[in-house]
Amino acid sequence: MQFLSQLQVQQKNKGVSTGTKWLSSKGAAIDSYSPVDGQLIASVKSADKESYEAVVQQAQTAFAEWRTWPAPKRGDIVRQIGEELRLQKHALGQLVSYEMGKSLQEGLGEVQEMIDICDFAVGLSRQLHGLTMHSERPGHRMYEQYHPLGIVGIISAFNFPVAVWSWNTTLAWVCGDVCIWKPSEKTPLCAIACQNITAKVFKKNNVPEGVNNLIVGDRIVGEWMSNDTRIALVSATGSTRMGKAVSAAVAGRLGRSLLELGGNNAIIISKDADLDMALIGAAFGAVGTAGQRCTSTRRLIIHEKVYNKFKDKLVHAYGQLKIGDPLNEKNHVGPLIDTMAVEMYKDAIEKCKAEGGNFVVEGGVLKGKGYESGCYVKPCIAEAKNSYAIVQHETFAPILYLMKYKTLEEAIAMQNGVPQGLSSAIMTNNLREAEQYLSAAGSDCGIANVNIGTSGAEIGGAFGGEKETGGGRESGSDAWKVYMRRQTNTINYTDKLPLAQGIKFDL
Ligand code: NAD
Repeated sequence: MQFLSQLQVQQKNKGVSTGTKWLSSKGAAIDSYSPVDGQLIASVKSADKESYEAVVQQAQTAFAEWRTWPAPKRGDIVRQIGEELRLQKHALGQLVSYEMGKSLQEGLGEVQEMIDICDFAVGLSRQLHGLTMHSERPGHRMYEQYHPLGIVGIISAFNFPVAVWSWNTTLAWVCGDVCIWKPSEKTPLCAIACQNITAKVFKKNNVPEGVNNLIVGDRIVGEWMSNDTRIALVSATGSTRMGKAVSAAVAGRLGRSLLELGGNNAIIISKDADLDMALIGAAFGAVGTAGQRCTSTRRLIIHEKVYNKFKDKLVHAYGQLKIGDPLNEKNHVGPLIDTMAVEMYKDAIEKCKAEGGNFVVEGGVLKGKGYESGCYVKPCIAEAKNSYAIVQHETFAPILYLMKYKTLEEAIAMQNGVPQGLSSAIMTNNLREAEQYLSAAGSDCGIANVNIGTSGAEIGGAFGGEKETGGGRESGSDAWKVYMRRQTNTINYTDKLPLAQGIKFDL
């Protein structure tokens, strides 16, 4: 596999790095198996307490220097990383596909997202704007400015093994922060590859050692980070269960957290929808990445007048799906991440049946040639009720629930009637419906779309969701502000010292 050597992934890798140097560690080795063919790809040494400590200290030292680099100069480093990613796009896309299991097209798309956020961050490096305001006191000037925070800890999930890191780091770097990344223990090789790509640029530009740190490890390493007062911001992407633990630990020390957690995303399909467009949005949203996107479509809320027609179209479309090796571009659906995920998929199907769900496309685990890893499952569809416990829960697998509605108010209430609030969509050609859906009385999610599905977002907008999705925002718009501290400055250029609010204090 040429992409492994191109990305400098060895059979045995060190998993702790301060940028260009790799540190020794006595932590356990994490073996990375491909869900594509079940083969052991390589193993990575995880961090122990000693190497963790060395990394945090190096990060502190690096911050003292990095924060003094002009932001556009930091932006230029990110620009060069974007260039390097362009050169490595195919190899990294292949590794993402092979280690995580998403289709090669989606793997390449994920790397493209990294390139896009680099471009965004370069521009941002000249636009870290504060405001000026008029002082109530004569001869005074007031303004606010943004300064870097310090160390940003990044805990990421397996399903976007490279993009989520780049959303955080590129912004944090131009803001003047240094980063420590703990990737998912299920995709450590993608992280090694990113570290190698970045190291090349850092070395060439004499970036201080400790600006880009990697600590491979499991949940325990994430807990060290959450409890570490030296880490100013913990940006955590993953399950709601994990987010609650991280949030409690970080809040307990009054640190800052940015949470990007689970979704339970619905598309409302109106009687005024273009059903062919709705079909593509719904099917890609539900089966893309084998239902393992935080924005995957899990529920379809369909108007009763088009319910049967749309259901038939969908069932027919599912009959055309090709399931298999995600590196083969003919296939639409690859494997789940591991056999544990397969068990969760099977369990969810059983629970749905027990609650009264009616499967119109049956699920099941695929066996035989090409499916030896045991991670390939059939995308399935069940008619279900929004109130079922299993429907209220995010199952990270291609299971789609169908439900019927009569009025838009009822549909919006169903869509919002789950604990999560990440992505949502309505398919309609009716302007009144679309605007009602986007109004304050409409979708309660962080992302609300009209005539596109729930899955996939552009980096230009702020990305994230409400309620149990955690409330964090990453990527575009003004999401950068979370990586900085705001300071209000008042300067008196007179020879008097008037107090605010006209308070007199004469001595
Ligand atoms: P996970 O919660 O099992 O693990 C995510 C990361 O958190 C891993 O690095 C893991 O080691 C770490 N972790 C787990 N428990 C921890 C703890 N107590 N303290 C500190 N760190 C801990 O999630 P996963 O299975 O890798 O990913 C799937 C989940 O991620 C889904 O729920 C999905 O919706 C969510 N996700 C959300 C977004 C988003 O932007 N909202 C993006 C991608 C994935």
